Amino acid sequence: MRNIERVPVFRGNGLLEYVERQPPAVAADDDVIVQVEACGICGTDLNILAVPPAHKAPPGIVIGHEAVGIVGAVGPAVTRVKPGDRVVVANRLTCGRCDYCRRGLDNQCTHYQTIGTTLDGAFAPTLRAPASALWTIDPALPRDDAALFEPLSCAVGAVRRAPFQPGDNVAILGAGPMGLLFALVYRSMGAGKVIVLDVAPYRLEFAQEIGLDAAINVAQGDAAAAVKQLTRLGADIVVDAVGNQIHQAIQLARRGGQVILFGLRPHDNPPVNQYTITRYDLTLHGAFVGLHPFAQTIQLLESRRVQPSILVTHRLPLDQLAHGVELMRTQQAMKVLIEVNSFTATNPHNGFQER
Ligand SMILES: [Zn+2]
Ligand SMILES: [Zn+2]
Repeated sequence: MRNIERVPVFRGNGLLEYVERQPPAVAADDDVIVQVEACGICGTDLNILAVPPAHKAPPGIVIGHEAVGIVGAVGPAVTRVKPGDRVVVANRLTCGRCDYCRRGLDNQCTHYQTIGTTLDGAFAPTLRAPASALWTIDPALPRDDAALFEPLSCAVGAVRRAPFQPGDNVAILGAGPMGLLFALVYRSMGAGKVIVLDVAPYRLEFAQEIGLDAAINVAQGDAAAAVKQLTRLGADIVVDAVGNQIHQAIQLARRGGQVILFGLRPHDNPPVNQYTITRYDLTLHGAFVGLHPFAQTIQLLESRRVQPSILVTHRLPLDQLAHGVELMRTQQAMKVLIEVNSFTATNPHNGFQER
Protein backbone atom coordinates (compact mmCIF):
# COMPACT_ATOMS: atom_id res chain seq x y z
CA MET A 1 0.00 0.00 0.00
CA ARG A 2 1.29 3.43 -0.84
CA ASN A 3 1.43 6.18 1.68
CA ILE A 4 -0.73 9.26 1.76
CA GLU A 5 -0.05 11.35 -1.36
CA ARG A 6 -0.20 15.10 -1.96
CA VAL A 7 -2.14 16.14 -5.03
CA PRO A 8 -3.18 19.47 -6.54
CA VAL A 9 -6.98 19.78 -6.54
CA PHE A 10 -8.77 22.24 -8.83
CA ARG A 11 -10.82 24.64 -6.70
CA GLY A 12 -12.33 26.74 -9.49
CA ASN A 13 -11.37 30.27 -10.47
CA GLY A 14 -7.88 29.22 -11.61
CA LEU A 15 -6.93 27.86 -8.19
CA LEU A 16 -5.04 24.70 -7.31
CA GLU A 17 -4.92 23.56 -3.71
CA TYR A 18 -2.60 20.77 -2.57
CA VAL A 19 -4.38 18.25 -0.38
CA GLU A 20 -3.32 14.98 1.17
CA ARG A 21 -5.33 11.98 0.15
CA GLN A 22 -5.41 8.22 0.30
CA PRO A 23 -4.27 6.99 -3.14
CA PRO A 24 -7.24 5.73 -5.19
CA ALA A 25 -7.79 1.97 -5.08
CA VAL A 26 -9.65 -0.45 -7.34
CA ALA A 27 -13.38 0.25 -6.98
CA ALA A 28 -15.01 -1.23 -10.10
CA ASP A 29 -14.18 -4.60 -11.65
CA ASP A 30 -12.51 -3.00 -14.66
CA ASP A 31 -10.47 -0.44 -12.71
CA VAL A 32 -6.73 -0.18 -13.10
CA ILE A 33 -4.41 1.63 -10.72
CA VAL A 34 -1.56 3.39 -12.51
CA GLN A 35 1.57 4.76 -10.87
CA VAL A 36 2.02 7.90 -12.96
CA GLU A 37 5.53 8.53 -14.25
CA ALA A 38 4.89 11.85 -15.95
CA CYS A 39 1.99 13.93 -17.20
CA GLY A 40 2.12 16.70 -19.78
CA ILE A 41 0.45 20.07 -19.34
CA CYS A 42 -2.09 20.50 -22.14
CA GLY A 43 -3.84 23.53 -23.60
CA THR A 44 -6.99 22.10 -22.03
CA ASP A 45 -5.38 22.39 -18.58
CA LEU A 46 -4.52 26.01 -19.34
CA ASN A 47 -8.13 26.61 -20.35
CA ILE A 48 -9.50 24.95 -17.19
CA LEU A 49 -7.20 27.11 -15.06
CA ALA A 50 -7.94 30.34 -16.94
CA VAL A 51 -10.01 33.06 -15.24
CA PRO A 52 -12.76 32.97 -16.37
CA PRO A 53 -12.35 29.31 -17.39
CA ALA A 54 -12.23 28.56 -21.13
CA HIS A 55 -12.96 24.86 -20.51
CA LYS A 56 -15.38 23.47 -17.96
CA ALA A 57 -14.22 21.26 -15.09
CA PRO A 58 -15.94 20.82 -11.74
CA PRO A 59 -14.16 22.16 -8.64
CA GLY A 60 -12.74 19.31 -6.58
CA ILE A 61 -11.29 17.46 -9.54
CA VAL A 62 -7.67 16.42 -10.07
CA ILE A 63 -6.73 17.54 -13.59
CA GLY A 64 -4.12 16.10 -15.98
CA HIS A 65 -4.56 13.60 -18.80
CA GLU A 66 -1.36 13.31 -20.86
CA ALA A 67 0.04 10.53 -18.75
CA VAL A 68 2.39 7.59 -18.90
CA GLY A 69 2.75 5.21 -16.00
CA ILE A 70 3.11 1.69 -14.69
CA VAL A 71 0.17 -0.55 -13.87
CA GLY A 72 -0.20 -1.44 -10.19
CA ALA A 73 -3.35 -3.18 -9.00
CA VAL A 74 -6.05 -4.30 -11.43
CA GLY A 75 -9.72 -5.16 -10.89
CA PRO A 76 -10.93 -8.75 -11.31
CA ALA A 77 -12.39 -8.15 -14.80
CA VAL A 78 -9.23 -6.61 -16.26
CA THR A 79 -7.51 -8.69 -18.94
CA ARG A 80 -6.00 -6.02 -21.23
CA VAL A 81 -3.22 -4.98 -18.86
CA LYS A 82 -1.38 -6.54 -15.93
CA PRO A 83 0.69 -5.20 -13.05
CA GLY A 84 4.06 -3.95 -14.25
CA ASP A 85 2.86 -3.03 -17.76
CA ARG A 86 3.68 0.42 -18.99
CA VAL A 87 0.61 2.27 -20.20
CA VAL A 88 -0.50 5.55 -21.71
CA VAL A 89 -3.93 7.10 -21.24
CA ALA A 90 -6.63 7.73 -23.84
CA ASN A 91 -8.53 10.12 -21.65
CA ARG A 92 -11.94 10.32 -23.34
CA LEU A 93 -14.14 7.51 -22.07
CA THR A 94 -16.98 6.82 -24.48
CA CYS A 95 -20.24 5.21 -23.43
CA GLY A 96 -20.42 2.60 -26.18
CA ARG A 97 -24.23 2.81 -26.16
CA CYS A 98 -25.31 6.17 -27.56
CA ASP A 99 -26.39 6.60 -31.17
CA TYR A 100 -23.00 7.98 -32.18
CA CYS A 101 -21.00 5.26 -30.46
CA ARG A 102 -23.22 2.70 -32.17
CA ARG A 103 -22.35 4.30 -35.52
CA GLY A 104 -18.64 4.06 -34.75
CA LEU A 105 -18.37 7.82 -34.24
CA ASP A 106 -16.77 7.50 -30.81
CA ASN A 107 -15.41 11.04 -30.85
CA GLN A 108 -19.02 12.29 -31.04
CA CYS A 109 -20.23 10.22 -28.06
CA THR A 110 -22.92 12.20 -26.30
CA HIS A 111 -22.24 10.64 -22.87
CA TYR A 112 -18.48 10.73 -22.63
CA GLN A 113 -16.41 11.27 -19.52
CA THR A 114 -12.90 12.64 -19.53
CA ILE A 115 -10.07 11.67 -17.24
CA GLY A 116 -8.61 14.92 -15.95
CA THR A 117 -11.79 16.91 -16.59
CA THR A 118 -14.83 15.05 -15.26
CA LEU A 119 -12.91 12.24 -13.53
CA ASP A 120 -9.80 12.58 -11.39
CA GLY A 121 -6.71 12.83 -13.57
CA ALA A 122 -3.00 12.24 -13.63
CA PHE A 123 -1.38 15.24 -11.96
CA ALA A 124 -1.11 12.82 -9.05
CA PRO A 125 1.18 9.94 -8.11
CA THR A 126 -1.69 7.46 -8.47
CA LEU A 127 -4.37 7.37 -11.16
CA ARG A 128 -7.44 5.16 -11.24
CA ALA A 129 -8.74 4.52 -14.76
CA PRO A 130 -10.91 1.93 -16.45
CA ALA A 131 -8.90 -0.59 -18.46
CA SER A 132 -10.56 0.64 -21.67
CA ALA A 133 -8.71 3.96 -21.31
CA LEU A 134 -5.27 2.37 -21.20
CA TRP A 135 -2.93 1.29 -23.97
CA THR A 136 0.24 -0.65 -23.33
CA ILE A 137 3.40 0.83 -24.75
CA ASP A 138 6.99 -0.37 -25.10
CA PRO A 139 8.75 0.13 -21.75
CA ALA A 140 11.92 1.01 -23.69
CA LEU A 141 10.27 4.04 -25.31
CA PRO A 142 11.61 7.24 -23.74
CA ARG A 143 9.22 8.40 -21.06
CA ASP A 144 8.79 11.86 -22.57
CA ASP A 145 7.79 10.48 -25.97
CA ALA A 146 5.20 8.23 -24.33
CA ALA A 147 3.84 11.14 -22.30
CA LEU A 148 2.84 12.94 -25.50
CA PHE A 149 0.74 10.00 -26.71
CA GLU A 150 -2.61 11.72 -26.20
CA PRO A 151 -1.95 15.01 -28.02
CA LEU A 152 -0.09 13.10 -30.74
CA SER A 153 -3.12 10.84 -31.15
CA CYS A 154 -5.25 13.91 -31.90
CA ALA A 155 -2.92 14.88 -34.75
CA VAL A 156 -2.72 11.29 -36.02
CA GLY A 157 -6.52 11.10 -35.99
CA ALA A 158 -7.03 14.45 -37.70
CA VAL A 159 -4.55 14.10 -40.58
CA ARG A 160 -6.47 11.05 -41.74
CA ARG A 161 -9.43 13.27 -42.67
CA ALA A 162 -7.71 14.91 -45.63
CA PRO A 163 -6.42 12.55 -48.33
CA PHE A 164 -2.67 13.07 -48.44
CA GLN A 165 -0.06 12.31 -51.02
CA PRO A 166 3.65 12.17 -50.20
CA GLY A 167 5.17 15.40 -51.43
CA ASP A 168 2.14 17.50 -50.53
CA ASN A 169 3.06 20.89 -49.11
CA VAL A 170 1.47 21.51 -45.73
CA ALA A 171 0.89 24.84 -43.97
CA ILE A 172 -0.03 24.80 -40.29
CA LEU A 173 -1.54 27.79 -38.54
CA GLY A 174 -0.38 27.81 -34.91
CA ALA A 175 3.12 26.72 -33.87
CA GLY A 176 2.29 25.69 -30.33
CA PRO A 177 2.60 22.06 -29.19
CA MET A 178 -0.39 20.89 -31.28
CA GLY A 179 0.68 22.67 -34.46
CA LEU A 180 4.18 21.27 -34.12
CA LEU A 181 2.84 17.75 -33.53
CA PHE A 182 0.96 18.06 -36.82
CA ALA A 183 4.21 19.22 -38.41
CA LEU A 184 6.13 16.21 -37.06
CA VAL A 185 3.44 13.81 -38.26
CA TYR A 186 3.29 15.32 -41.75
CA ARG A 187 7.07 15.34 -41.98
CA SER A 188 7.17 11.65 -41.06
CA MET A 189 4.54 10.98 -43.75
CA GLY A 190 6.76 12.45 -46.44
CA ALA A 191 5.32 15.91 -46.92
CA GLY A 192 7.03 18.20 -49.39
CA LYS A 193 7.38 21.39 -47.37
CA VAL A 194 6.08 21.74 -43.84
CA ILE A 195 5.45 25.40 -43.06
CA VAL A 196 4.19 26.74 -39.74
CA LEU A 197 2.69 30.17 -39.10
CA ASP A 198 2.28 31.98 -35.80
CA VAL A 199 2.64 35.43 -34.24
CA ALA A 200 4.89 34.40 -31.32
CA PRO A 201 8.63 34.75 -32.02
CA TYR A 202 9.44 32.09 -29.39
CA ARG A 203 7.32 29.51 -31.19
CA LEU A 204 8.61 30.44 -34.64
CA GLU A 205 12.22 30.17 -33.50
CA PHE A 206 11.44 26.84 -31.90
CA ALA A 207 9.92 25.56 -35.15
CA GLN A 208 13.05 26.56 -37.00
CA GLU A 209 15.27 24.88 -34.42
CA ILE A 210 13.51 21.56 -34.90
CA GLY A 211 14.13 21.83 -38.61
CA LEU A 212 10.76 22.64 -40.15
CA ASP A 213 11.01 24.08 -43.64
CA ALA A 214 9.67 27.54 -42.85
CA ALA A 215 8.25 29.48 -39.92
CA ILE A 216 6.28 32.54 -40.95
CA ASN A 217 5.27 35.40 -38.68
CA VAL A 218 1.72 36.27 -39.76
CA ALA A 219 1.97 39.61 -37.96
CA GLN A 220 4.68 40.66 -40.41
CA GLY A 221 3.52 40.98 -43.97
CA ASP A 222 1.33 38.91 -46.26
CA ALA A 223 1.33 35.29 -45.06
CA ALA A 224 -0.55 34.01 -48.10
CA ALA A 225 2.02 35.57 -50.41
CA ALA A 226 4.85 34.07 -48.36
CA VAL A 227 3.31 30.59 -48.51
CA LYS A 228 2.71 30.97 -52.22
CA GLN A 229 6.31 31.90 -52.76
CA LEU A 230 7.43 28.76 -50.94
CA THR A 231 4.95 26.44 -52.62
CA ARG A 232 4.32 28.05 -56.03
CA LEU A 233 0.54 27.45 -55.90
CA GLY A 234 -0.26 27.58 -52.22
CA ALA A 235 -0.39 24.73 -49.72
CA ASP A 236 -1.96 21.42 -50.72
CA ILE A 237 -3.13 20.97 -47.15
CA VAL A 238 -3.68 23.64 -44.49
CA VAL A 239 -4.24 22.86 -40.81
CA ASP A 240 -5.81 25.38 -38.47
CA ALA A 241 -4.43 24.29 -35.11
CA VAL A 242 -5.63 27.52 -33.50
CA GLY A 243 -9.38 27.38 -33.94
CA ASN A 244 -10.25 30.79 -35.35
CA GLN A 245 -8.06 30.97 -38.45
CA ILE A 246 -10.47 29.72 -41.10
CA HIS A 247 -10.21 32.93 -43.08
CA GLN A 248 -6.42 32.81 -43.16
CA ALA A 249 -6.48 29.05 -43.80
CA ILE A 250 -8.46 29.33 -47.02
CA GLN A 251 -6.11 32.05 -48.23
CA LEU A 252 -3.14 29.71 -47.80
CA ALA A 253 -4.61 26.73 -49.68
CA ARG A 254 -3.98 26.22 -53.38
CA ARG A 255 -6.92 25.81 -55.73
CA GLY A 256 -8.45 22.40 -55.05
CA GLY A 257 -6.64 22.23 -51.73
CA GLN A 258 -7.85 20.97 -48.38
CA VAL A 259 -8.23 22.60 -44.99
CA ILE A 260 -8.36 20.71 -41.69
CA LEU A 261 -10.07 22.73 -38.98
CA PHE A 262 -8.72 21.27 -35.75
CA GLY A 263 -8.35 23.97 -33.08
CA LEU A 264 -11.28 24.72 -30.78
CA ARG A 265 -12.27 28.28 -29.86
CA PRO A 266 -15.93 27.90 -28.89
CA HIS A 267 -16.51 31.61 -28.36
CA ASP A 268 -14.86 32.90 -31.52
CA ASN A 269 -16.94 33.38 -34.61
CA PRO A 270 -14.53 34.31 -37.37
CA PRO A 271 -15.88 35.64 -40.67
CA VAL A 272 -15.16 33.50 -43.69
CA ASN A 273 -15.10 34.31 -47.38
CA GLN A 274 -17.44 31.65 -48.75
CA TYR A 275 -16.77 32.73 -52.33
CA THR A 276 -13.13 31.64 -52.05
CA ILE A 277 -14.16 28.14 -50.92
CA THR A 278 -16.52 27.65 -53.85
CA ARG A 279 -14.57 29.45 -56.55
CA TYR A 280 -11.33 27.59 -55.80
CA ASP A 281 -12.80 24.16 -55.04
CA LEU A 282 -11.56 23.98 -51.47
CA THR A 283 -12.49 21.09 -49.21
CA LEU A 284 -12.89 21.84 -45.51
CA HIS A 285 -12.71 19.12 -42.88
CA GLY A 286 -13.89 19.67 -39.32
CA ALA A 287 -11.90 17.25 -37.17
CA PHE A 288 -12.61 16.88 -33.47
CA VAL A 289 -9.77 15.06 -31.68
CA GLY A 290 -9.32 11.74 -33.50
CA LEU A 291 -11.45 8.78 -34.37
CA HIS A 292 -9.78 5.49 -33.36
CA PRO A 293 -6.26 6.92 -33.61
CA PHE A 294 -4.74 5.09 -30.66
CA ALA A 295 -3.28 1.89 -32.09
CA GLN A 296 -1.59 3.79 -34.92
CA THR A 297 -0.27 6.42 -32.52
CA ILE A 298 1.37 3.69 -30.41
CA GLN A 299 2.88 2.14 -33.54
CA LEU A 300 4.16 5.53 -34.70
CA LEU A 301 5.75 6.26 -31.33
CA GLU A 302 7.32 2.81 -31.16
CA SER A 303 8.71 3.25 -34.69
CA ARG A 304 10.54 6.34 -33.33
CA ARG A 305 9.82 8.08 -36.64
CA VAL A 306 8.05 10.73 -34.63
CA GLN A 307 9.72 11.70 -31.37
CA PRO A 308 7.45 14.30 -29.78
CA SER A 309 9.75 14.68 -26.76
CA ILE A 310 11.71 17.26 -28.78
CA LEU A 311 8.85 19.62 -27.89
CA VAL A 312 9.43 19.20 -24.14
CA THR A 313 11.28 22.26 -22.86
CA HIS A 314 10.67 21.97 -19.13
CA ARG A 315 10.33 19.18 -16.59
CA LEU A 316 8.93 20.13 -13.20
CA PRO A 317 7.93 18.31 -10.01
CA LEU A 318 4.27 18.01 -9.09
CA ASP A 319 4.39 20.85 -6.57
CA GLN A 320 5.31 23.25 -9.40
CA LEU A 321 2.29 22.56 -11.60
CA ALA A 322 1.06 26.16 -11.39
CA HIS A 323 4.50 27.41 -12.41
CA GLY A 324 4.48 25.07 -15.40
CA VAL A 325 1.05 26.33 -16.44
CA GLU A 326 2.33 29.90 -16.22
CA LEU A 327 5.39 29.09 -18.34
CA MET A 328 3.14 27.71 -21.07
CA ARG A 329 0.58 30.47 -20.79
CA THR A 330 3.23 33.15 -21.19
CA GLN A 331 4.88 31.18 -24.01
CA GLN A 332 8.18 30.81 -22.21
CA ALA A 333 7.87 27.06 -22.65
CA MET A 334 6.76 24.87 -25.54
CA LYS A 335 5.70 21.76 -23.64
CA VAL A 336 6.00 21.27 -19.88
CA LEU A 337 6.02 17.80 -18.34
CA ILE A 338 5.22 17.20 -14.71
CA GLU A 339 7.45 14.45 -13.34
CA VAL A 340 5.22 12.70 -10.89
CA ASN A 341 7.14 9.57 -9.88
CA SER A 342 10.68 8.78 -10.88
CA PHE A 343 11.12 5.06 -11.25
CA THR A 344 14.51 4.73 -12.85
CA ALA A 345 17.99 6.03 -12.23
CA THR A 346 18.08 7.25 -15.84
CA ASN A 347 15.53 9.88 -14.94
CA PRO A 348 17.18 12.15 -12.40
CA HIS A 349 15.52 15.45 -13.34
CA ASN A 350 13.27 16.13 -10.45
CA GLY A 351 13.65 19.84 -10.47
CA PHE A 352 13.45 22.74 -12.84
CA GLN A 353 15.34 21.95 -15.97
CA GLU A 354 15.71 24.11 -19.03
CA ARG A 355 16.07 22.61 -22.43
ZN1 LIG B 1 -4.20 17.05 -24.02
ZN1 LIG C 1 -21.52 7.16 -26.61
